[in-house]
Amino acid sequence: MPPLPESLRICAVCPNPCRSALGAGAAPPESRLPSPTAYLCYALAEGHLPPVPEIVASLRDLDTVRVCQERCVYGYRIAEDIAGFAAGLSAEAGHAA
Ligand code: SF4
Repeated sequence: MPPLPESLRICAVCPNPCRSALGAGAAPPESRLPSPTAYLCYALAEGHLPPVPEIVASLRDLDTVRVCQERCVYGYRIAEDIAGFAAGLSAEAGHAA
């Protein structure tokens, strides 16, 4: 299992203040916001979820995370950190990221 960046541990328990970057009319699925996506990484890293292809693939749907991270209160580049973690998972599983 690739190491989990500290940014993802923090993001996993953060209440998504960065969602304001989406604007008032935007309503993406809650699961696509940064914190739940980071929490998926945390759950995988801690062995609470298996790294099955469907879960790993969901870590590549980062459009909403990319918009939100522009207002990350910590200045994290969460999309890049999630993508790096997912690439590590894929490399360990022996298939392309
Ligand atoms: S991207 Fe930053 S502000 Fe948004 S949920 Fe994660 S840690 Fe919190």
